[in-house]
Amino acid sequence: MKADAWFLDEPAAPLVRREHSLDEPGPAEAVVEVEACGLCHTDLSFAGGSVAPRHPLPLVLGHEITGRVVAAGEGARHLMDRPVLVPAVLPCGECEFCAAGRGNACPRQKMPGNDVHGGFASHVLLPAGALIPVDDAPEHVTRANLSVVADAVSTAYQAILRSDLHEGDAVFVVGAGGVGGFTIQFARALGARVIACDISPERLEIAAAYGAEEAVNVADLDGREARKKLQGIARSWKIPSLRHRIFEASGTAAGQLLAYSLISRAATLVQVGYTFDKVTVRLSNLMAFDATVHGSWGCPPEAYRRVLEMIYDGSVVLEPFVEHAPMSELNRLLDDMAHHRLTKRMVLLPDS
Ligand SMILES: [Zn+2]
Ligand SMILES: [Zn+2]
Repeated sequence: MKADAWFLDEPAAPLVRREHSLDEPGPAEAVVEVEACGLCHTDLSFAGGSVAPRHPLPLVLGHEITGRVVAAGEGARHLMDRPVLVPAVLPCGECEFCAAGRGNACPRQKMPGNDVHGGFASHVLLPAGALIPVDDAPEHVTRANLSVVADAVSTAYQAILRSDLHEGDAVFVVGAGGVGGFTIQFARALGARVIACDISPERLEIAAAYGAEEAVNVADLDGREARKKLQGIARSWKIPSLRHRIFEASGTAAGQLLAYSLISRAATLVQVGYTFDKVTVRLSNLMAFDATVHGSWGCPPEAYRRVLEMIYDGSVVLEPFVEHAPMSELNRLLDDMAHHRLTKRMVLLPDS
């Protein structure tokens, strides 16, 4: 089968569109005809050359895919002709990590656009074991928008699970765009009180409309002022630090420093954003505060059902956070992303 795809041939060069041949699907594989593929910061890191994908170049990027199964191996026949969501992390399903419910950390995981060719293409060949059928989506949820569930939305949900969030907790979300925006929505839907902070007035406005009780612009505050302001809100709510859940979703060094500074007694921090930059922190604060820090990567496929339920029943909405564009705009959009000109998650639709 032929696929029309956008290849990263070398770092920091524009993606190049060309046809390539897909292998016949193996017994546990399927070919998905791409309906939509979300554009993530990780794609920019790969395209810009700051991070090398695990698969050697050339590589087709894109890991937020929805589409329809158009060819399936013996073990995946039940998926034939069905619309599916492709999780960004496809665990092997057989190792000790997977058996322990930590499939998102599976050492044999396949990530489209990183370990195997991804979704900036007309068709993509994938391991079928973790594909999520979405033929039960209600009409108000468009399948193109569901593509962002593969990473931005499900990653936010997994981070919430990781934090052991409870109703009535105070949640601090540092970085209100992308994953942060969805973290805010899940936290609110699960009964927490949410404080969002960011440096973008547009992102804060959306955060305030979709779950954040307080939306704080920290652009003009130094680290100490920002910490005092944010912790002061939780104090005014009389929520003890034991019940503080801090999510670093900005993927910036400044955001990480701010998030870390918010840790106090028995608080929990989850690191969700990614930056190659390093920060200097006093790790002993964790000891002194008996505090907890988790990393969170992706989301195991078994958690997707709950994520989809919360979208289907309207507890979490996608539309205000998502914008569509044709895939042929890919290079321009990567450039816009590099220059911080995007405020919404871009969902790319293959050009016919
Ligand atoms: Zn991503
Ligand atoms: Zn595994």
